[in-house]
Amino acid sequence: MRVIERINDLKAIIRSQKLSGKTIGLVPTMGYLHEGHLSLVKASKDDNDFTIMSIFVNPTQFGPQEDFEKYPRDMQRDTKLAESAGVDVIFAPSVFEMYPDGYKTYVDVEKITEVLCGKSRPGHFKGVTTVVCKLFNIVQPDKAYFGQKDAQQVIVINKMVRDLNMGIEIVTCPILREQDGLAMSSRNTYLSSGERNSSVILSKSLFEADQMIKDGERKAENIINHITSRISSEESAQIDYVQILDFNNLESIDNLIGKVLIALAVKFGRTRLIDNIVVEV
Ligand code: AMP
Repeated sequence: MRVIERINDLKAIIRSQKLSGKTIGLVPTMGYLHEGHLSLVKASKDDNDFTIMSIFVNPTQFGPQEDFEKYPRDMQRDTKLAESAGVDVIFAPSVFEMYPDGYKTYVDVEKITEVLCGKSRPGHFKGVTTVVCKLFNIVQPDKAYFGQKDAQQVIVINKMVRDLNMGIEIVTCPILREQDGLAMSSRNTYLSSGERNSSVILSKSLFEADQMIKDGERKAENIINHITSRISSEESAQIDYVQILDFNNLESIDNLIGKVLIALAVKFGRTRLIDNIVVEV
């Protein structure tokens, strides 16, 4: 496995892989790898001849008051994990390599970026789509792999790919969870042990919502109230949002029908966690 920092070096490797007819899978990450990231690698290896993982903590997707500086980073550990998962190349550019002086171009998907995390984190998705577009242009993968964990992100990226005719297949992989149900996340490392114990309420309340729907509940308000009251029972939890939306257009719905996204964002202390489930009603 090679670790490449320069765009031109990566392009040279990709050119030779493509010349020999290899298909290329891309797994974009911000590093500090966990099993969730590695499940994307596995999916890419199952589908493609050559897997590239990018590790880049992208400054343009963090707000000024957010955790860009203190986002966990451990390149040595990531290199070992990626290599044992069978990654062929890690692309780990510097911020300057991706955004040289005078950088001026951004990709902005409208409307569906104004709800959920887009509302709480203005500019976040503009940073995400810009960096993912750049990675797609650099790597020109056949397929790119994203986690359902960041449900809105994958919906926004699918929209960008369709709207801009990028011709890359986006593969969405299921959420990997800790044994107690907490969705794996690099940010879980910020949690104190008390917060870690409390955080299990997120997945618990979502699984309870799923059961309510299986039992016949169709009113979004009743489900949201249930999730909200369960999460509020944890003193350290501060709800950012609990919402039920149409999966296809991210519009709020009153009655559950079709493919539905139940998404939440909750802060424990200074750590903001997200989780979701998708249900077909
Ligand atoms: P991140 O490094 O947090 O930007 O995540 C990189 C990719 O891994 C994104 O596509 C995430 O959705 C995905 N991912 C993060 N956590 C999980 C998880 N628990 N299960 C599956 N995929 C995940």
